[in-house]
Amino acid sequence: MSNLEKDPAEVLVAEPAVDEPRDAAVELLEYREVPLGGPRALTVRRTLPQKQRSLIGAWCFVDSYGPDPVNGRGAMDVPPHPHTGLQTASWLYAGEIEHRDSAGSFALVEPGAVNLMTAGAGIQHSEVSTDATTSLHGVQLWVALPDRSRHVAPFFEHYVPEPITHGDATLRVFVGELLGQSSPVTTFTRLLGAQLDLPAGGSVTIPVDPSFEHGLIVDAGAPTLQGVPVSAAQLAVVSAGPAQLTVEAGGLPLRALLIGGEPLAERILMWWNFVGRTHEEVVAYREQWMREVIAGEDADGRFGHVDGYESHGHPGHALPAPELPNVRLRPRD
Ligand code: MN
Repeated sequence: MSNLEKDPAEVLVAEPAVDEPRDAAVELLEYREVPLGGPRALTVRRTLPQKQRSLIGAWCFVDSYGPDPVNGRGAMDVPPHPHTGLQTASWLYAGEIEHRDSAGSFALVEPGAVNLMTAGAGIQHSEVSTDATTSLHGVQLWVALPDRSRHVAPFFEHYVPEPITHGDATLRVFVGELLGQSSPVTTFTRLLGAQLDLPAGGSVTIPVDPSFEHGLIVDAGAPTLQGVPVSAAQLAVVSAGPAQLTVEAGGLPLRALLIGGEPLAERILMWWNFVGRTHEEVVAYREQWMREVIAGEDADGRFGHVDGYESHGHPGHALPAPELPNVRLRPRD
């Protein structure tokens, strides 16, 4: 999905200094509602990045949306837009979205399947819900690529994890490795992503990598994590340290995503759909997108071209980048 905010802020993501310990066992992050704009606006619940916390491992962006009752094609209609320096992971609970990208991929994004797009040096893609879609419900996550890998050539992967059971839980490991189940999709830092379901009254204790930071993105239910109550739509964060995580469903069935990863320990700059390292680099990505694709001057440039995108049955146009903010952010230390 695109960040379709009209005036996206430039977000500087700096690792916290070592003298700022996060001693709370579980940090609870609230969402903010972000209208995505466009002809039929979707509103998403953004839990990452935010002031208190910008990264969980290399996960740098979490938008949850729905369930939104919708009426078929074009309920979600995100025109071709660019990405750099990141991976996008799409995970649906309901609905069906057609994905097209400039690496030549066409894929259906469906519940239970992860679609992982590695933007690397640069890609563009479109996302349109299908005629069969009566409800859109899911999560869009971004992963920041480490400096050593962020200029790789773009590619796309699709994977359907086999559900596994542990304790009372059903888990679908779509990125990384957990409980002996591992996903074959490509990661550039050690990373975890899994759907976690518990029946009402159920509980599970999961052995995890103690060097990982973890987050629980609660979609439905009112669970506890490490004994701390977490509300639906909250993102509960556990810093590196624990070797196991305990989740109890309480009185309602739980559906959540468990994400995690080794701390990225790099400073990144996010603006609109770009992840870079400096303001100048982001300015250059924006100018290249506007020149190559919006002005149509180079269909074989950094961002290539997307074939087959139609908006409501008609050939559609790519999304122009918003204006850049006037304020130039500098790394803090
Ligand atoms: Mn996107």
